[in-house]
Amino acid sequence: MANAPECLFCRIVAGDVPAEVLHTTERTVAFRDVSPQAPLHALVVPRDHYENAAALAAGDPETSAELVRTAAAVAVAAGHDDYRLVFNTGAGAGQSVFHAHLHVLAGRDLAWPPG
Ligand code: 5GP
Repeated sequence: MANAPECLFCRIVAGDVPAEVLHTTERTVAFRDVSPQAPLHALVVPRDHYENAAALAAGDPETSAELVRTAAAVAVAAGHDDYRLVFNTGAGAGQSVFHAHLHVLAGRDLAWPPG
């Protein structure tokens, strides 16, 4: 799927918007969230543009799996065996950037259910 020039995360992937990149793979980029909600708060995104996690899983299941592998690598590299992975899907569920992204949260007690 083509990248979307107006998409913030496509622009981060392209290097046009700065971000603190933690890990890259052929298909994914992981960078720190600009507004961290935990000591480790990273976002893992596919290099290609998909609106949300479900669209990514339907269109490119291998990259969908790689997102999870990358997220685990980021957490473990930061010293966290316990971490939370979150896909917000839809504005009503808190999605604000419509390029699929997996939140990686770790480093504090994470309550359940989430707010
Ligand atoms: P969502 O709300 O869509 O699940 O998550 C979007 C995330 O992107 C939010 O946690 C927000 O803090 C983060 N974010 C928004 N703008 C930027 C930015 O310019 N740079 C980075 N690194 N993160 C951003």
